[in-house]
Amino acid sequence: MASIAPTPFSSYRGRLAPSPTGYLHVGHARTFWTAWQRARDAGGSLILRMEDLDAERSKSTFADAALEDLRWLGIRWHEGPDKGGPCAPYAQSRRQSSYLAAWRKLMQGGYLYPCRCSRKDLQAALSAPHESSLPDDAGAINSADILDDEPIYPGTCRQLHDLVPQLPGHTGVDFEKPDNINWRFRVPDGEVVEFEDRNLGPQRFVAGRDFGDFVVWRKEGTPSYQLACVADDAAMGITEVVRGADLLKSTARQILLNRALGFANPDWYHCRLVVDHNGRRLAKRHDALSLRALRQRGLTPMNVLAASLPFEGVEETLLFRRRPVQREIPRPAPSMRLICAG
Ligand SMILES: [Zn+2]
Repeated sequence: MASIAPTPFSSYRGRLAPSPTGYLHVGHARTFWTAWQRARDAGGSLILRMEDLDAERSKSTFADAALEDLRWLGIRWHEGPDKGGPCAPYAQSRRQSSYLAAWRKLMQGGYLYPCRCSRKDLQAALSAPHESSLPDDAGAINSADILDDEPIYPGTCRQLHDLVPQLPGHTGVDFEKPDNINWRFRVPDGEVVEFEDRNLGPQRFVAGRDFGDFVVWRKEGTPSYQLACVADDAAMGITEVVRGADLLKSTARQILLNRALGFANPDWYHCRLVVDHNGRRLAKRHDALSLRALRQRGLTPMNVLAASLPFEGVEETLLFRRRPVQREIPRPAPSMRLICAG
């Protein structure tokens, strides 16, 4: 497949942002393929950014595998860890100073407060705790941070700090560095955050109801996904973010962060999520649907991209009935159907 030629005249800048915590699967392939197509159709640039902030779970073997799998699919990029470029470095683990600058700016704007709640505290405070989605007290960045089912923070520490002025010099906090504390962004309760998704249409979330005060800096010394994402997208001049629909609510949070930081919002294009036959999102447990495994079974990139797989909330048969154009896509290989059904 042809690569996209860099076109310095176009202002479109898209990005691919794999996390090297496992092998890419069919769902990633579809989203990244869409990102590549949109950049190509716009005559723009595509930037590859390795989202490797989770030091414990990120492995260089997965990072190498992601680049290899993307190339196998036929996806090409103009800037990235393997190519360099004007916005280097392209690995989040090497961009700490930029995140610290963003944290400092939010602090100075009075948007943050320290949260000393432990995982246990949060569990106790929530009536319906989702254990897997609570901030991890033990040190690792919880993968649920980006799965976006984070329960609404009950506000324990916010109330403490609403009584204390948030200006430098008044709280005894060193504003030069985050120290070993979790920092949360105080969302404007009741504010409606709306945006037009270029794929899924109008979106609407209410701050404080659909999502609560979220963590932007972890006591382990790393920014959260939300903060790193907006800092990088702004620094790299990203004009359109193409990613999975599991991040729709994160987009609402990031719109608030962008406003607080004085960053322009990119356009948003969220892709429907591929699910397994039980309607569950694809995850690391779906080893059989990793690009690696599919390639080893002899499937081609076209097989992978064209395979008949259900999307979240959309029955497979319904999808085909509503969108007859799908029939023009080459039929998936029988082995693919077999794999996806099991
Ligand atoms: Zn707290």
